[in-house]
Amino acid sequence: MDRLNTRNILKRKKHKLEGNNYNCALCNHNVEETALHLFFTCPFSQACWQHLGVQWNLAMDFFHMLLHAKEGFSNPFFMEVFIISAWQIWKQRNNFIFSRGQPSFLAWKTGFIDEARLRAHGISENKRTLFLSWIDLYIHFELKPMAEMFCTVRN
Ligand SMILES: [Zn+2]
Repeated sequence: MDRLNTRNILKRKKHKLEGNNYNCALCNHNVEETALHLFFTCPFSQACWQHLGVQWNLAMDFFHMLLHAKEGFSNPFFMEVFIISAWQIWKQRNNFIFSRGQPSFLAWKTGFIDEARLRAHGISENKRTLFLSWIDLYIHFELKPMAEMFCTVRN
């Protein structure tokens, strides 16, 4: 449900913001800003997903694309990671549109980490430690995904 609400909110905000310039704010490719471009095919977003270890198969429809990415993801927190990352991509785009700064990978990453730490409170206690470890070890310090850490949670 959280995912659906978030997507609806994004869609509503997008409609309000569209003015004369329909081009993507996150890259200089002069591509019309569609949800597909902004969140998945934009070089900016692709760098974000790559950093998180999320692989999108763009040949699939959205539902199967999500399932496929979830299956290939290294830990059990795919939906949390997906929502937080998409939200932060959206924030980078809004920052630019409202003249609060240039889109920045570092700002996205800092926002991701802050938001993920906040959201960790909503995760059950036994999984929270693993989620926080993943943020600290993988996202913050850019180490390899610690897949073996999460085997016990998955079962
Ligand atoms: Zn773009």
